[in-house]
Amino acid sequence: MRNEKAVVVFSGGQDSTTCLFWAIKTFREVEAVTFNYGQRHVLELDCAADIAAELGIRHHVLDMGLLNQLAPNALTRNDIEIKQEDGGLPSTFVDGRNLLFLTFAAVLAKGIGARHIVTGVCETDFSGYPDCRDVFIKSLNVTLNLSMDYRFVIDTPLMWLNKAQTWALADELGAFQFVRERTLTCYNGIKADGCGECPACQLRRRGLEEYLDSGASLEGTQLEGTS
Ligand SMILES: [Zn+2]
Repeated sequence: MRNEKAVVVFSGGQDSTTCLFWAIKTFREVEAVTFNYGQRHVLELDCAADIAAELGIRHHVLDMGLLNQLAPNALTRNDIEIKQEDGGLPSTFVDGRNLLFLTFAAVLAKGIGARHIVTGVCETDFSGYPDCRDVFIKSLNVTLNLSMDYRFVIDTPLMWLNKAQTWALADELGAFQFVRERTLTCYNGIKADGCGECPACQLRRRGLEEYLDSGASLEGTQLEGTS
C-alpha cells in the first residue's frame, strides 16, 4: 500500500465503485467525490452516498448543475430519449464532462492534500467519448500539474480493461458481490442487475455473462484449493 492520499471520482456505478475498492487497497487514505449535475435519477446520488458511508469513506458532493444548463441531454433530462446511432455518440454524451469533473476533482484533491485522482474512464469499450481516452487523460494530467504547480497523478485502473475484466478486477479485490448488488448503472434507476433493457444494463450484463462464462473463480470460492 502506498503512503499517499487519493480522491476517487465516484458515481455509485459499477466502474467507479470498482475503482473505489482499488483505491482503498492501494492508498493509505481515500476520499470520494460525486458530481451532482441533475442526474435523471437522484437515486444515483443516494447510492453513492450509501456506498461511501458503508465503506467509511469521506464523501464530497459537488454541485455541477451548470452542466445541465450548458448541455441538456438524455443523461439529465427526462424528456429526452436515450439512444445511440450506429457509430455515433450516445445521447448521454455531455461535451467536456470528464474535463470538467477531473478539473474540479483536482482542485478538491489539492485542497485536502491528495496527489492521486482515481477515475474509471476506459478506452477499451470506446463509445466515442473523446475525454475518456488515455491520451486525453495524460494531456490533462500535465495541464493540471502546470495550472496548480502541483504533482497530480491521475490513476485510471480500468483504462485498458473490457467489461468482463472489470468484473474480474472487482472479484480480485473481494468486491464482486458488493459491486453486483450495491451499484447503480441502469439509466432507469434500478440498482444491481437493473432493468435489463437500457444500453447501460445491456453492456453491464454482457460483461458479467462473459466473466461468469469464463469459469471465473468468484470470491468465496476462490480460496478453495489455494489456501
Ligand atoms: Zn437499465
